[in-house]
Amino acid sequence: MNPIDKLTEYFKEFPGIGERQAKRFVYFLLHKNPVYVKELGDKILDLKNTIHQCPSCFLFFQSMQDQLCDNCSNPKTDKTSLLIVEKDADYENIKRSKNYNGKYFILGGLVPIVSKDTPNYVRTNELLRNIELQYKESGLKEVIIALSLNPQGEHTDMYLRELLIPLQEKYKLNIVSLGRGLSTGTELEYSDSETIKNALRNRA
Ligand SMILES: [Zn+2]
Repeated sequence: MNPIDKLTEYFKEFPGIGERQAKRFVYFLLHKNPVYVKELGDKILDLKNTIHQCPSCFLFFQSMQDQLCDNCSNPKTDKTSLLIVEKDADYENIKRSKNYNGKYFILGGLVPIVSKDTPNYVRTNELLRNIELQYKESGLKEVIIALSLNPQGEHTDMYLRELLIPLQEKYKLNIVSLGRGLSTGTELEYSDSETIKNALRNRA
């Protein structure tokens, strides 16, 4: 395979990128000067060397490996509450709205409606472990499922509620969803502070 086709294959793995767009990226790079291309390569390597995931909530942030993020390590964080979001962008938007002061858990994706198996990028085992640990260490009381209000988000919400039943009964946890305070089609990533505030207030 020639280098143009080879690199095209790499770009095709990016979310939402097809063959034609992937090829446009390759030709874009061919037209750029060598310094730009070199720096781009370095930045990609930097990303993997300097950004790691928090071992507790799975947020990507600039850190050493196995270091807790600011929210997880902050003594002011309310550790009796855990809020589950789909992805980093949802975390950041809720955090920015300053309406929630507890711990987070980034699920990594949504559960597909059609598939029987949960894909391994959805961190269900880690979630169960986290809840168990947070109960024992900090007396966890409430789990808030905060997923976008679209069919896959609602499906995942139901899936998680079912999954959490044994722990809910064992530890008398209050499990609520943010969904009722959102209108249909709401993407958490793009919700404003007021919407998030209302959703948190109306959680049920
Ligand atoms: Zn964290």
